[in-house]
This record gives sequence, C-alpha cells and structure tokens, in this order.
Amino acid sequence: MTASPEDAIAAVIDAGHRAAARGWVPATSGNFSARVDAARMAVSATGADKGALTRDDVLVLDIAYPRHERASAEAPLHAQLYRDRPETGAVWHVHSENAVLVSLRHGGAGAVPLAGLELLKAFRGITTHEAEIRVPILPNDQDTPRLAAQASRHILEDARLWGYLIAGHGLYAWGTTPAEAWRHLEAFDALFSLHLRSTGGHK
Ligand SMILES: [Zn+2]
Repeated sequence: MTASPEDAIAAVIDAGHRAAARGWVPATSGNFSARVDAARMAVSATGADKGALTRDDVLVLDIAYPRHERASAEAPLHAQLYRDRPETGAVWHVHSENAVLVSLRHGGAGAVPLAGLELLKAFRGITTHEAEIRVPILPNDQDTPRLAAQASRHILEDARLWGYLIAGHGLYAWGTTPAEAWRHLEAFDALFSLHLRSTGGHK
C-alpha cells in the first residue's frame, strides 16, 4: 500500500481521534502511524493529545532512520513493523485498559491465547472460529530500539500475527490498510475484554 503524505497524515489524525473517543490513549499516550510509501511513514509526534491531533502533530519520517526532534520514543517500533512487513499499511498503538490488564495477567506466560471465538475472523487470514492465536507479550523496556528487536523476532516468526502486547504498557496492532488496522485493534480490545471477563479477572 502507498498513499499520498496527506492521506497518510489524515489517517493518523482520524485514528488518534477515534482511539481517544474510546478512552484508549489517556494522558497523551499512544502513537499512530500510516505508510506513505516503501521508505516513509506518517507518525504522531511525541507529547500530542491524540484526541486533538492536527496536521502539525504528524511527522513524515524515514522508516530506515525514524529520527526527528519531535519523534516519539516509540517511533522505532512503528518503523520496524514497516520494515519487517512490507504489506503493513498502518500501525495503531494504544494504552487501553483491557490491553494493559491482560498483559499483566499473562506477562509471566509470555502470550495470551485466544481461541474458539467468532470474532477471531476479524483478523486477516482467519476464516473460522476454530482458529487459535497467541498474542505475544514483550517485557516493557524504555530502550525502544531494543524492544523493536524483540518484537521483530515474533513478527518474522508468525506471518498471521497482527498485534503484540507490551507488559503493563499497551497494544500494538497493524493491518494492510488503516481500516484493517482499526478492525484488528477493535477485535483485540473486544477479545481481551471477553478473555478477562471469562477468566474472572475483570474489575
Ligand atoms: Zn506506549
């Protein structure tokens, strides 16, 4: 997928607004990016209120070297997904309550198993509720290039992987288009909510 820089920026702004409306990006957390072309991504700047994102809060960065004085510390995690998965069109990262709770519950096991649910068909490539997916949980790390290297192992290992968790932190979800990335993000959040409630850990 390629997009004009303006279309990629508009997709980032839209995702930020929608995630904020869900309460998934409290206190300026979360990051949103969309691919422009083989070499560039549009990505939200550090410190921006995602519910009030404007054109000025979105940077166009090189995926090989995502540096900018206003770049988020998590820009390397976005860039790495575009490098490892050429089909990636958008990456949405949120600190939603369900993602954080499930990451804490299963952090020790290193993954959340999800199986036997109709909603699994929301993920690209899954056509039956009889599927099982394991969402990896990485230990949190303030060294984000190192964290990106950890994520890369899982991404390259499992071609059906559309998201991972970072323990006590949040969720990265992606897709081949902005709309598909949003569908995956919503599916993960709903599946995590079901998982927490069905295993007795919901608040
Ligand atoms: Zn984060």
